[in-house]
Amino acid sequence: MPERQDAAPRPDGAASFSARLIDWQRRQGRHDLPWQNTRDAYRIWLSEIMLQQTQVGTVMPYYERFLARFPDISSLAAAPIDAVMQLWSGLGYYSRARNLHRAAALMVERHAGQMPASREAIEQLPGIGRSTAAAIATFAFGAREAILDGNVKRVLARHQAIEGLPASSAVLARLWAVAETFLPGVSRSSEVSPASPVSASEDLIAYCQGLMDLGATVCTRARPACERCPVAVDCEARLQNRVHELPTPRARRVQPLRATSMLVLLQGDDVLLERRPSTGIWGGLWSLPELQAGDDPVLVARQRFGLEVIELRPLPRLRHGFTHFSLDIDPLAVRVLGRQASLGEPGALWLPLAEAGSAAVPVPVRRILASLCAGQSPQGALDLPA
Ligand code: SF4
Repeated sequence: MPERQDAAPRPDGAASFSARLIDWQRRQGRHDLPWQNTRDAYRIWLSEIMLQQTQVGTVMPYYERFLARFPDISSLAAAPIDAVMQLWSGLGYYSRARNLHRAAALMVERHAGQMPASREAIEQLPGIGRSTAAAIATFAFGAREAILDGNVKRVLARHQAIEGLPASSAVLARLWAVAETFLPGVSRSSEVSPASPVSASEDLIAYCQGLMDLGATVCTRARPACERCPVAVDCEARLQNRVHELPTPRARRVQPLRATSMLVLLQGDDVLLERRPSTGIWGGLWSLPELQAGDDPVLVARQRFGLEVIELRPLPRLRHGFTHFSLDIDPLAVRVLGRQASLGEPGALWLPLAEAGSAAVPVPVRRILASLCAGQSPQGALDLPA
């Protein structure tokens, strides 16, 4: 067992933890993020979903564009899914966008276009887990609910020196128990007042935000700044000199590498896109037709799309990283003839090459299309690499 770092008197438990965090959040936490200083449940919900697995700096422009196009639940529910996916394109984890759209439609159908106020009811909506529902209920309605997102798990696992994988059910149960215990009391207000839901719950909101801020800016994964931490004095990981051991990391696995080929079917200035299945990677997005191993591109163009190949050139390979694997993509640029007014395949369409990259396409497809656009001659003919 490593030596304890100091023997300073410990503050008095859970109440002190929340009091220190609330005080720190008010003085040093984040106050100017675009989704703060609002009690609009829609804006809070959107930010919580976008921020899952995604950095604040990445989210900001997406958040602003999304709100400009869909300012409320009703406008989101009424939008075609393609328009939603288009605004999400590049942000990744596309099931989040599909669930957002479905949840908006459900709220219109069942809740008069409003976010329900209780954590339990919010959690019934697609794509919203317990912690996200708790954050929405707290920030929008001042509810007293524990949160436990990835950053908060790290803070609590360190502060309480909880060992074991945070994803395991036993450790998760302990973390939730700590999260519940540390919730501040309701000294300022015990009930959420419908007339003034915010002022009644300022401490709860500051506490919830403080936990998030601490995990994002101080108790970070790689370089925690314990010297700036408001709960350092009784942090068990720090006292036991085990900050970098906790939370218990997952065993490192070699990232698998997968490979695929994509057909860039070109006729005149247009390129053919097809919609991907709604589940799986890039679910619901528009993409380039993929070849299965052993497929003959000439036969695929003819049999699936009724097109005759007149020129075929490989484009440079791209590697795209996903959370659990990497994907090597070998694009084939294919000039074709024989485009019909109506494609045999449902869910396929021709778009001008210059516009296709702005559709709801995955990032690597956008890069392939952009590289082709960059090679387009002034006459519009494609300068395919030899
Ligand atoms: S003292 Fe360090 S390890 Fe402990 S909660 Fe604070 S930043 Fe995290």
